[in-house]
Amino acid sequence: MTTPNTDLRQRFFIQDSPVRGDVVRLERSYATIAAQKDYPEAIKRLLGEMLTAASLLIGTLKINGTLSIQIQSSDADSLLNWAMAECDQAGIIRALASWKGETPEQQAAWAAKSTANEAFAELGEMGKGVLFINIQPENGEAYQGIVERCHDSLAACLAHYQHQSAQIPTLINLACDGLQAGGILVQMLPRTSQESLAAELDQDAGIDEDLWTRLTLLTRTVKAEELTTLDANEIIYRLYNEENVVAPEPATLEFGCTCSREKCAAAIEQIGEAEALEIIAEQDGSFEMDCGFCGAVYTFSKDDIEQIFA
Ligand SMILES: [Zn+2]
Repeated sequence: MTTPNTDLRQRFFIQDSPVRGDVVRLERSYATIAAQKDYPEAIKRLLGEMLTAASLLIGTLKINGTLSIQIQSSDADSLLNWAMAECDQAGIIRALASWKGETPEQQAAWAAKSTANEAFAELGEMGKGVLFINIQPENGEAYQGIVERCHDSLAACLAHYQHQSAQIPTLINLACDGLQAGGILVQMLPRTSQESLAAELDQDAGIDEDLWTRLTLLTRTVKAEELTTLDANEIIYRLYNEENVVAPEPATLEFGCTCSREKCAAAIEQIGEAEALEIIAEQDGSFEMDCGFCGAVYTFSKDDIEQIFA
């Protein structure tokens, strides 16, 4: 089996079991996002893991909308201010981070770090820093989940969150080598009432009681370099070739930005006319807004600003 597209989410099922999983692979889209700013290596890798995680998690939801993962430092001395990555139901992904890197000391500190976990550790010691999962449905209320900072890797924190909040046993493994990113999510969905009853009555309903234990052990054997370099189908085959795996058509993932001139105008409206005109005066008659996600620059003239507030 080959997968010509390198940026995708491949769903898989273990036949006749409540187990469902996804493998995400990001290459082109990740390279585009990582090149938007001169990111320190550790942040670049953390963004790769966050993008992979957002692409995996939205696959577990039955909503039309966007899922974003956000981490924020609560410590003013932290070298990482914040980072966020999002994926929508159509597979459009983007990410951005803010860090301190102006002084030679800060630059040297970043140069000494190379792993995603080192960037993640900039949130401070265990329990420090904030991790959010934001779900913004196309129609309806936004939802924000707070992820406990209980491990030193993003993957372990997210798996813990899934287990706690949704009561769904979840395995998550994320990896990024700075060039490519990849990850796997495996979940054991709740049994149907009929299956539970059969299990209680100790009847053989075809339920494989050892399956989850076995999958946990198998999933732990996947290496970071396999997640970042192998095809999704190859990863699934290497891990679960003893199981009865069914894999439907994969979903495509690609970089895209949702910024627009209209959204910038709305942001200017938020600032207020007086302040906006002040900025115009300071910037020689034009108000420039640039999008950190994609590099697009939106320029507003004094006339444009007056029109916004007309
Ligand atoms: Zn943009």
